[in-house]
Amino acid sequence: MTIKGFHEGLVDKKFSAVEAIGGFYRTIHAKDKDIHAFLSLNKDSALQTAKVIDARIAKGEKLGILAGIPLAIKDNILISGEPATAASRILEKYSAAYDATVISKLREEGAIFLGKTNLDEFAMGSSTENSAYGPTKNPHDIIRVPGGSSGGSAAAVAADMALGALGSDTGGSIRQPAAFCGVVGLKPTYGAVSRYGLIAMASSLDQIGPFAKTVEDTEILFKAIVGKDELDATSHHTDYTNGRNKIKNLRVGIPKEYFAEGLDSEVGDEVQKVIAALKSAGIKFKSISLPHTRYALSVYYIIMPAEVSTNLARYDGIRYGERQSADNLFELYKKNKGVGFGAETKRRVILGTFVLSAGYYDAYYTKAQKVRTLISNDFDKVFGEVDMVIAPTTPTLPFKLGEKTKDPLQMYLSDIYTIPANLAGLPGVSIPVKGRDGKLPVGFQLIGKKWREADILSMGRFYESLD
Ligand code: GLN
Repeated sequence: MTIKGFHEGLVDKKFSAVEAIGGFYRTIHAKDKDIHAFLSLNKDSALQTAKVIDARIAKGEKLGILAGIPLAIKDNILISGEPATAASRILEKYSAAYDATVISKLREEGAIFLGKTNLDEFAMGSSTENSAYGPTKNPHDIIRVPGGSSGGSAAAVAADMALGALGSDTGGSIRQPAAFCGVVGLKPTYGAVSRYGLIAMASSLDQIGPFAKTVEDTEILFKAIVGKDELDATSHHTDYTNGRNKIKNLRVGIPKEYFAEGLDSEVGDEVQKVIAALKSAGIKFKSISLPHTRYALSVYYIIMPAEVSTNLARYDGIRYGERQSADNLFELYKKNKGVGFGAETKRRVILGTFVLSAGYYDAYYTKAQKVRTLISNDFDKVFGEVDMVIAPTTPTLPFKLGEKTKDPLQMYLSDIYTIPANLAGLPGVSIPVKGRDGKLPVGFQLIGKKWREADILSMGRFYESLD
């Protein structure tokens, strides 16, 4: 069922919100033993909200489209009074003191939060295997990963345990798991959605965004969370639907760097089929080049850890975590971080501290910032000729649990096609390729101009409407 369908059922009184929410929890209890998408559930408050929605329906009030809609929320987004572990031991006992802005906005719409979903610790990973609480499994094949870091959110939607979800995307963490789980996932333009109440990973790259079954549902969620927020100075006002372009006027670029060595042939063939289908429906394509793409991963693995190392400095075992006693301050930090952080988190804090240290700062960090600008300029240039870029979301099909855990570099390569949009601050959406029933899902990605979510979402809806 979709958000739209659920809304219609609710207002037509085909079911009550309380019945429906109860049904979702039954599905979760039946399926989540195997999938492990959720880290915690908020059943009491969810049913409480459902009752309020039912009372509003009984009174004949007109309901907004998100009223009563069951959502799953990544466990690095704060819901007041609920846990927010970021899948880390160090936040195991933490309970959020306030709502993230996205949560307040959805709450106002009457949306229902079923629970908090699993992720790679502090959103660092591509498989959800870096969670301190055990991995999430891909609902299409439970020996495979759901992607990451928002693997729990993507799996919850794919397994019908929620109608929509929120995730965060720093280098691909919404789009890559969306592709692996066969759902839609949108990373908005940097600044389109407030980051207030998101546990920070790399602040110049992080964006919150929605997951859903269809592009239309994804857009409904996006519309509810978009907008400037006084509490996030990097957020921006955007009337994202302003001047919606006619679909047939939108031109799509095919970047040769994204269809090159390293791309699994099955994934590549499926994306070519999408291009062919859109072409025969009248969409114009153009071959383009984004020459600095090959530096994106290296640049990301300098800038991101630098920001991670500063953002994670606050987890010292004093304010957060259960304080392990020690003889002096250094020992205290060492002990608490040693116990509270997993291996990948430690690796990135160490890497980030290194690239920011005196003597290396210019060689690594400053240089990476310059190359980041070149990557951004590549997009600016092609956006003179095309309105969006099409690419695979991931280089491979969903891989098996344990397949890449021993080799961080292999794992990092999972995000080779998603990272450039984060570095350039551009919106990107991953959409499942149709006709893969019984086979592992494949996603294709549309990357748009800044503040032009409307263009990529329109194109996505157009693709979904083709037979
Ligand atoms: N997988 C990427 C990483 O490990 C992206 C993470 C993210 O977008 N949060 O950094």
